[in-house]
Amino acid sequence: MIHCLPVPTPFAVGRVNVYLVEDDPLTLVDTGPNSATSLTTLESALAEHGRRVEDLERIVITHQHIDHIGLVQILANRSGAEVVAFEPLKPWLESYREGMEADDAFSEAVMARYGIPEDVRMALRSVSMAFRAWGAAATVTKTVREGDTIEFAERTWTVHHRPGHSPSDTIFCDEGRRELIGGDHLIKHISSNPLISRPLEGGDPTERPQALAIYLDSLAKTREMDLVRVLPGHGEEIHEHRQLIEERFRLHERRARKLLRLIAERPQTAYELAQAMWGNVAVTQAYLTLSEVLGHVDLLRNDGRVVEVEEDGVAHFAAT
Ligand SMILES: [Zn+2]
Repeated sequence: MIHCLPVPTPFAVGRVNVYLVEDDPLTLVDTGPNSATSLTTLESALAEHGRRVEDLERIVITHQHIDHIGLVQILANRSGAEVVAFEPLKPWLESYREGMEADDAFSEAVMARYGIPEDVRMALRSVSMAFRAWGAAATVTKTVREGDTIEFAERTWTVHHRPGHSPSDTIFCDEGRRELIGGDHLIKHISSNPLISRPLEGGDPTERPQALAIYLDSLAKTREMDLVRVLPGHGEEIHEHRQLIEERFRLHERRARKLLRLIAERPQTAYELAQAMWGNVAVTQAYLTLSEVLGHVDLLRNDGRVVEVEEDGVAHFAAT
């Protein structure tokens, strides 16, 4: 039996789904952010199922975002639970503050290159600094990789890496029950933002990953899976994952077409494109919308329909 325990977050996304897996070992998937409100909500949700934090034997992490990892170490300290995460995430989680600092520096360089003005960059940086306290460092005691299994008395999960929303997105498939723990890889009521993030391992950290292209590849793999339900990191359970993935593919095709029309009018920066697409949201949510624009421009560049031209250190996009 898997129970969904929704835990509040201070973020626009609203509550995060924490899952309690009633099996041996007693397992929690994700934790909610590091706040007293989240912890007390989680404690009473566990109590409704006759459990306490101290009973937890294993904590499994779906990805690095702070609404999912904030309470990991507090819960692990109180329960002695093992902490399971995707292997390349271990060093990032263990030196959380340095990791976030490096991530912010990376985002700032990306924003400067793609035309986000300095005042907007500084505002975003202070927002990110303020949010940092909702996450916390955690020690990972067991690492997993693509194809590994996580064993319980009554079930087995196969581990798959499905990057795109974040570099560490990890999903866990119970092939027997055709049930997937999906994290934020696939969410029913919103399309998961393919955020441009600093790579966790390997590669050139100054080179921007094609987050949307990577995400669409990951979605295509998940579409092939035979599932009856997906338990997501936010919102309701998903029963028609293939249909939802097809909708996401169509949404991204439409957006790419719209961006191509805008670029065909005149060469523009990604920031100008984001403003044309989303107006003021491109200012308040500058990194999110920048990631969206760059993701779609990547698809157009890969198809040879758009080129990136640099002028005084700022990239402009032009139609071929
Ligand atoms: Zn999330």
